[in-house]
Amino acid sequence: MKIQLIPSAVGGASDLQFLMTCVVNDCVAIDAGCLGYLAPLERQRRIEHVFLSHSHADHIASLPLFLDNVYKPTSECPTVYASPAVWDCLRQDVFNDRIWPDLVRLSREETPFLRPVFLESGKTVTVGSLRITPYALQHVVATMGFLIEDDRTAVATVWDTLPTDGIWEHIRDNPRLRAVFLEASFPNSFDWLARKAGHLTPELLSREWRKLRRDVALIVVHIKPAFYDAVTDELEALNLPTLQIGQPGKTYEF
Ligand SMILES: [Zn+2]
Ligand SMILES: [Zn+2]
Repeated sequence: MKIQLIPSAVGGASDLQFLMTCVVNDCVAIDAGCLGYLAPLERQRRIEHVFLSHSHADHIASLPLFLDNVYKPTSECPTVYASPAVWDCLRQDVFNDRIWPDLVRLSREETPFLRPVFLESGKTVTVGSLRITPYALQHVVATMGFLIEDDRTAVATVWDTLPTDGIWEHIRDNPRLRAVFLEASFPNSFDWLARKAGHLTPELLSREWRKLRRDVALIVVHIKPAFYDAVTDELEALNLPTLQIGQPGKTYEF
């Protein structure tokens, strides 16, 4: 399984992630923060399935642009998967003809821009050779992490969450689990803000990691750019043997 963290900085390589998107096997996107900025355009055209963790802008910012970019006036279009709460938000706050044309309505009336699908926590979706299972996380809005599996490998994406239990209980015993992309947004001294904003600090991350009780790769993502140096210093001080800082642009093979 191949997973690339899509970079979001313009003008040069950067360790900072301003927006979240990762692409699995070139054809499935988890989140669309920067999906619509991916070049060359052919790479966007290869994305057939987009799974949204939640409705915050760093995860959906370029979704309207992506859908425009890959539109072709045929019956083919990307499938976009999100929870009912996220769809409600996208309809009311994004595809409302004020922020962006109502592509959901247009997709019913004309050749489609997208095919909307509702996600349910714990219910697996099969796309090609991948099985993707969403699990509810603990954030300030309805949010899901994902377990992505093929016949040999399983990888989890867990971002935008406070301490949680459900997803760890579900993935802990998966014999094919190879890696977890896990968030750490704020430094330990901003624990108060992490708790209000629904995020983890390195200290909270280390407690979450103990819940997994597995020796798989831990790739830390969603580090707030304003606190990048402090968070990465605190992550390194944890001395977790499998921990690595997620690198925008890097392709991970599992
Ligand atoms: Zn976020
Ligand atoms: Zn969020």
